Amino acid sequence: MPKFQKAVDSWNEKHGETYLFQCPGCDCSHRISTTLGKRKEGPTWTFNGDLDKPTCTPSLLVRWNYGQDQTKQVCHSFIKDGKIQYLNDCTHKLAGQTVEIPDWEMKSRCDVDVIGEDND
Ligand SMILES: [Zn+2]
Repeated sequence: MPKFQKAVDSWNEKHGETYLFQCPGCDCSHRISTTLGKRKEGPTWTFNGDLDKPTCTPSLLVRWNYGQDQTKQVCHSFIKDGKIQYLNDCTHKLAGQTVEIPDWEMKSRCDVDVIGEDND
């Protein structure tokens, strides 16, 4: 079963091929822009093209604000061979753990699904 789902929308024209996956730490989907396809603007990640056992580099950093009080959330991970390795700076329950990425299923999208490089 695929863990990554290719996103088909206008993002692809601007950002190359983008993919969605379910993040079990945040309980919502994240979107990643890859170096596949024609490439454009914004940060991109390498993707081995294997929807069942995705590997991406470099690390993925997601920052978003949760709930009415806009609590700052951090989700920082490596994706390798279909597994997601969460680093210790994650604010969610799976910080420091490595888990299998769930089979793709759209549950909910994070309000802010931008994935930035860890450059700050
Ligand atoms: Zn996450």
